[in-house]
Amino acid sequence: MRSWNKVQLKSRRLVSSNLAGGIERFAAILFFLFCCCPMVAAIAFGQSLTSKSTSVVGDKRAAFQTEEVAVYVVKKGDRLSELARHFYGDPNKDWMIEEANESVALKPGQVLVIPLRPTNPGGLSGKGYQVVPILSYHHFSAECSNTLCIPIDEFSKQMTFLKKEGYRPVTMEQVLKFINYQEPLPKKAVAITIDDGYRSVYELVYPIMRRHNFRATLFIYTAFIGNSPNALTWEQLRELSEAGFEVEAHTISHTDLTRKRKGESEAAYLKRVRKELAEPRELIGKHLGREPIWLAYPYGRLNDLVIAMAIEAGYRGGVTVTRRANPFFTDPFRLGRNQVMNPAQGRSFDQMLKVFRGEKLQ
Ligand SMILES: [Zn+2]
Repeated sequence: MRSWNKVQLKSRRLVSSNLAGGIERFAAILFFLFCCCPMVAAIAFGQSLTSKSTSVVGDKRAAFQTEEVAVYVVKKGDRLSELARHFYGDPNKDWMIEEANESVALKPGQVLVIPLRPTNPGGLSGKGYQVVPILSYHHFSAECSNTLCIPIDEFSKQMTFLKKEGYRPVTMEQVLKFINYQEPLPKKAVAITIDDGYRSVYELVYPIMRRHNFRATLFIYTAFIGNSPNALTWEQLRELSEAGFEVEAHTISHTDLTRKRKGESEAAYLKRVRKELAEPRELIGKHLGREPIWLAYPYGRLNDLVIAMAIEAGYRGGVTVTRRANPFFTDPFRLGRNQVMNPAQGRSFDQMLKVFRGEKLQ
């Protein structure tokens, strides 16, 4: 009898623990549906939210919000960049809303899903992984006579192509966060970099970029700035920087950092390289109020010693001129860049814009 009671007790416990487990599982499924599958939540809430929505101008309160996601009902006059500013504190993160919703037509009453936490920072999928192409330009002119000069009409066409095809120019600061596995990039992210500091960036490129609401990253060698009729001035750089262009370092004198001069002692060489790396950080910081964190190696020349010294000088990454797009697991001091040449040397522009590398992940 006693043992029978024991069996009954045991089975009752089993039933109650199964029931508790069932409730837990049900709660977990609900939690998953509403938090991890924001689309489901949006569909479930959609109708009632639409009917309840008020149209207070400037009211950006979410109709439903967890730590992971907000569900927002579009009001008259809403703009994506304003919503990004409200939910992320950054109008340039509008792509996060765009990529989470099938349509961002922003018709009043439309329900938008707004993911609040960055997900999948490395851009991994079952089919492969995201890579970020970094385009590299030098100078621009109405007519060009060398391979590193791009006819400005051609550049304008390239930017129009990027816009039309949905590419999103990103900053090198964003690229660093991607490489460090901290934040995702838009699926069609591309970084636009321009080396050396030619005045044509201000006179010809800037108006085109402004028209598209694009930004670029400038790698300047500081001895050039303000010292040639072809060079940018610090005032122009300040204006570009205030407009969202990044100004990063390309040494003082555009010297090959890997080469010791004839008759130069090891100590003198190290001292010289140290200065070539440190001074642009101070100078750019002094003029523009922000110290560079990226280094473009002159002529793309680098070795382990140069990288070690760049790290010592406070850089967080370095770009080469090796043609490739970059996955997040790339060495941040050996990022590839796709140089845009004139003529294109058989490479079409879209070949330089690979944003995904297919591979079976195991
Ligand atoms: Zn250069």
